[in-house]
Amino acid sequence: MSFGRMIRLPQTLSFRLTLWYGLIFSISSCLAFLFFYVLITTNLKKQLDDRLSQKISEFEAIYNLQGLDEVKEAALIESRAAGEKKIFFRLLYASGVAFSSSNMSYWRAIGINRKAVRQLMTSRSRVYETLSIPGRDDRVRIAYGVIGHKIVVQLGYSMETDIAFVAIFKRIFFVTMSALIITAVLVGWFMARRAVSGVEAVTRTARQISESDLGRRVPIMARHEEIDRLAVTFNQMLDRIEKLVVGIREMGDNIAHDLKSPVARIRGMAELSLSGEAGVSDELISLAANTIEECDRLLDMINTMLMISKTDAGAGDLSLEMVNIAQVARGAVKLFSPLAEDKGLTLSCDTPESLMVEGDLKMLQRAMANLFDNAIKYTPPPGHVDVRVFREPGNKQQINIAVKDSGIGIDNQDLSKIFNRFFRCDQSRTAGGSGLGLSLARAIARAHHGEIHVVSSKGKGSVFTLSLPDHHVH
Ligand code: ADP
Repeated sequence: MSFGRMIRLPQTLSFRLTLWYGLIFSISSCLAFLFFYVLITTNLKKQLDDRLSQKISEFEAIYNLQGLDEVKEAALIESRAAGEKKIFFRLLYASGVAFSSSNMSYWRAIGINRKAVRQLMTSRSRVYETLSIPGRDDRVRIAYGVIGHKIVVQLGYSMETDIAFVAIFKRIFFVTMSALIITAVLVGWFMARRAVSGVEAVTRTARQISESDLGRRVPIMARHEEIDRLAVTFNQMLDRIEKLVVGIREMGDNIAHDLKSPVARIRGMAELSLSGEAGVSDELISLAANTIEECDRLLDMINTMLMISKTDAGAGDLSLEMVNIAQVARGAVKLFSPLAEDKGLTLSCDTPESLMVEGDLKMLQRAMANLFDNAIKYTPPPGHVDVRVFREPGNKQQINIAVKDSGIGIDNQDLSKIFNRFFRCDQSRTAGGSGLGLSLARAIARAHHGEIHVVSSKGKGSVFTLSLPDHHVH
């Protein structure tokens, strides 16, 4: 069983961040320790070597000036002054045989390195070595040097103080480092928690949203750029989802509302014909006719919905041809004139002789008819509806069909919704309609790479403009 399986480590981001932080901190601390350790020990050794070398040079000078006996005397005084456990010396012949030394009772285990003596005789001026003293927790640094004709001095210096110093350095370092690593882990944990706290806020909000309402938003802390950006993006996504859900809900409500009354009427009529009260066959005929009419309305709504979905899906199903849109507009005006006249409205038309677009004739007729129908439906008499077909002045690639009425107009707050399926402004609910006409018109416009725009002012009238690209669908 692996270590990871035996102890289940938490998989959280903050734990992993803390682990990495602690690990990197510990490794860099150990490297720093190693660096200082090497620096200190090499320096100490160098200092010691310099001291030993200088001492040998002093002996050499005494030998040259005053002779061998004075050297012996000076070395003895030196070793006694420093302490016989601190320093020792031996005077050797070139053969490596000692002929004089300080008190060696403490240094008995230290022998003579004949190889070092040989090296001295040939080339080098100083030879150094470090020896451990068996049975003692001490080491000694030894230097060999020539002080006169075929006379060599072996000088040893106990490294006890240096060892103690390094030991203290190690102890202080480990204590400090342990404290620092613990602090680093705590600080790392705190920082990691702080860093991911924003992510947790997003998670919390997401969880609350699924449990309760869509109105909640992640608070923006203005602390971490990235987390705030995540929160802002998340909130924007929530805005969009909320809008969609509200739209779907409204549409559902509208469908239910609009389908309810015709179905209820059909049911009532069917009930009446079943009860036998209708009696006369003329009445039965009229009931049947009404039933058919309501059914047609329902079918029309359903068909329109299907057409919108299909048109929304793209221009693939359009049967494209070159269409003279000016002529289509004139035809539609002619078709709607009796309806407008009946209502006491004047219908005017201003089009050039010909303006060609590439499109589906039937679809374009349908879109235009919906706009005309609305203009007449929502304009009380005595009003007027003006139709104009023209090339957009600033953009020669665009052809506009503007339907302007002097009708009831549309509330500003409803302007963005009138193209939604089944949406009807409150004031127009009494007029017949399904709330699908504009959705279909816009879907047709978009399938032709065009658009429908509306400008309206409540109580004064509206202008619906169907824009289409010139000549060809891109
Ligand atoms: P409807 O079948 O209700 O006419 P539409 O999709 O064609 O459905 O229009 C949606 C709503 O937009 C209408 O119910 C009406 O409130 C508003 N509307 C459309 N055209 C006009 C217009 N020319 N003047 C005023 N309101 C309009």
